[in-house]
Amino acid sequence: MTTPTDRHTLRKSRSQQEAYMFTSIEGRSVIVTGASRGIGKGIAQVFANKGAQILVVSRNLGPAEATAKEICAVGGKASALAADVSNWADAKRIAAAASDQFGGIDILCANAGIFPAAKLDDLTPEGWDEVLNTNLKGIFLTVKACLPAMKTKQKGRIIVTSSITGPITGYPGWTHYGASKAGQLGFMHTAAIELAPHNITINAVLPGNIKTEGLDGLGSEYLGKMTASIPMKRLGSAEDIAFAALFFASDEAAYITGQTLVVDGGQVLPESLMALEEIEKMT
Ligand code: NAP
Repeated sequence: MTTPTDRHTLRKSRSQQEAYMFTSIEGRSVIVTGASRGIGKGIAQVFANKGAQILVVSRNLGPAEATAKEICAVGGKASALAADVSNWADAKRIAAAASDQFGGIDILCANAGIFPAAKLDDLTPEGWDEVLNTNLKGIFLTVKACLPAMKTKQKGRIIVTSSITGPITGYPGWTHYGASKAGQLGFMHTAAIELAPHNITINAVLPGNIKTEGLDGLGSEYLGKMTASIPMKRLGSAEDIAFAALFFASDEAAYITGQTLVVDGGQVLPESLMALEEIEKMT
């Protein structure tokens, strides 16, 4: 027989469950690469706000420290590390830092990436290598470095920030970028199979155009015309991507691996400019 106190506790825990929807990630050890600004910073802030401990990684220490400080200032837990994801020794330092500071690695958000534009006539072999080394080799190295710690726990979550550009769409100047982002998905499909027996999932978020410092660098004309081509008529926010990553990181997403989630305000959907003109007429 349940007592009034039991019933109160039950009611409270049910309403708490309903309020949170997902199992808490409080205390989880999370690495976010490219977290000094933009999407990575948004992921770091959202995960920290849910109680996770965050290792903020970027090549430049100052901005990474500033992000970690901002998180700590509002009661979160974070530390910063300067490391280059395209360098194997640095990737191992990232994994070691999270393990040493937080007692293991639960979640890797492999987000660091660059998107310098260069059309084929101007794209140099060095420019190609820089983008592929950061965006594609970078996820291979960081995932590989984190695996021993995840395999020890026989549990882990890896979330890759890919893009609609490459896997779904194309844009002049981004052959190298598109190849790197489509390549991330090719990597993910086989990694998902290899990691499944260890209870480690790997999934990818495919952002559309997200308002970040990096995107701002493409100029106001790009931002204006891009906004006009999105059915929701706004650029995405870093938080829009962070909440998709948070879903993949949740216990409730345990049976989802090797999958993609497009977060783009409907950008890839219109068949033609006419489709956008039609919705203009309707509003
Ligand atoms: P961002 O504002 O330029 O920020 C990039 C972050 O990555 C910074 O923290 C940067 O810090 C770090 N970084 C760059 N190269 C690195 C390296 N080799 N090692 C470690 N850290 C590195 O970019 P964003 O717009 O937030 O984009 C983040 C990710 O989302 C990228 O993978 C990008 O391709 C993807 N994405 C973005 C959009 C968008 O619209 N913004 C759309 C689709 C996909 P340091 O320079 O100090 O290293």
